Amino acid sequence: MTVVDIHCHTFNADDLPARGFIRRTRFDDSRIGELVGVLADRLVQGQAPGYQAEKDELDRLLTVEAFTEAHEATPARVDPVDRFDADVDAAYASVEISDPQLLHEVGTLLADEAAVTGAPGAEEGVWDWVTGARRAVRWVKLFGASRLQNTLLLVRNFDDEIDLYTPLVVDMDMGLYDRANTRIREQIELHEKISRLSMLGRLPGVVRGRIHPFVGFDPRREVRDRMAGEVETALDVVKLAVETYGFVGVKLYPPMGFKPVGNTKTRDMTEAVARQVDDVLRELYAWCVAGDVPITVHCNRSNEAHDDYLEFSHPELWSNVLDEFPRLRLNLGHFGGANRDAPPSAWPIQIAELATAEHPHLVADVGNHRIYDRVLRSQYLALLRRLFDAVPTAGMADRVMFGSDWYMVAIHPEHDRFLETYRSAWLAEFGKESTESFLGGAALRFLGFDDPRAGSTRRLRARYERYAPDRTPTWLAGAA
Ligand SMILES: [Zn+2]
Repeated sequence: MTVVDIHCHTFNADDLPARGFIRRTRFDDSRIGELVGVLADRLVQGQAPGYQAEKDELDRLLTVEAFTEAHEATPARVDPVDRFDADVDAAYASVEISDPQLLHEVGTLLADEAAVTGAPGAEEGVWDWVTGARRAVRWVKLFGASRLQNTLLLVRNFDDEIDLYTPLVVDMDMGLYDRANTRIREQIELHEKISRLSMLGRLPGVVRGRIHPFVGFDPRREVRDRMAGEVETALDVVKLAVETYGFVGVKLYPPMGFKPVGNTKTRDMTEAVARQVDDVLRELYAWCVAGDVPITVHCNRSNEAHDDYLEFSHPELWSNVLDEFPRLRLNLGHFGGANRDAPPSAWPIQIAELATAEHPHLVADVGNHRIYDRVLRSQYLALLRRLFDAVPTAGMADRVMFGSDWYMVAIHPEHDRFLETYRSAWLAEFGKESTESFLGGAALRFLGFDDPRAGSTRRLRARYERYAPDRTPTWLAGAA
């Protein structure tokens, strides 16, 4: 059975305006968000490896065999994951000395949260404040890790049980009024190298997992680039990433401040700019349809850059896009969220209503669901059962995809069991065939990797033929 994690992240704090991002991350308890933000300021600011530092490390890994031949032996290196673990221990120890009260408070809040949701161990008091505090420090330090470390930590979080990861690069500068240190263009270079290492089987400690990323895009950046007369615009960079650097899809984040289509004046753009944003988005969608380039979008009422943008990824707006581009390969990420006591008008229902024969490639993923919460889990599976059984929404049954949203999910208890928990719950509720679709089949169809004629399959086959001809994965459809 092929397992795909269609929604995960391996960027670091140098790739996005980290301070704004962490502070915007939606915690159920806003005090937790505040304290985690303070921890991030203490432990991450200015520490994440930038472009050049990481490029050097990746180039060393890519050329290691040539060097070994030339120099007989390469000096033993510390495993990047061990290095990360040591950094976390040191960070924890430093806050323990400088601000024990902060650790105690954030740890207690996280432990209480785990206890309320009935996470395993809660009754036995396993979720004491120290466990919570360590989880918070570790999560914050992930923003300070290298992209390579985050990739290895992602793979090990799931015990290398996953065949394909499609990490999503994000572009949030426009939404957060800030600038990432590492430009998207540079991020693409780094992620391409990590992807190539996975294709060659040279990611330390990784046997099974392949890495094929999505590139982030903000249409407002394209409008700005055109106004400025840039030689290479944001959309050019997206095309370059897909056509030359082996990226397999595009990530959009509407809650940063733009709608999927039908934009009007906002606090950040004039009416004229809004119209141009629509033009740019239509150009992107048309290009994606023509080349079988899938798009994953953030589709949940969360992580908005401003309150005004909370509803900017509403399923109704995506419905308008699908009216114009019915064959678009579109993943509504997070599937509208999984919440306790969801009202009948909730987003998941509206998304499932879009899963018609006219929209063959509309799918959704379960990224970052609090599936460890037993009450939420049983309510959510019951909701899915009702959706799959009702005629207007039955088309959704084989279109829900596994996605972890790692490492956002790593602030939650039991995050290392996210795959196992979802797999066993799905198997018990929907049976083996449905589980195969959920864990990988639906994602491979979304990516076009089940179809030898799809542009996406042709591009990835060519990439393997060029760099790792003996290691073309079995989950990729054969040559047409
Ligand atoms: Zn995500």
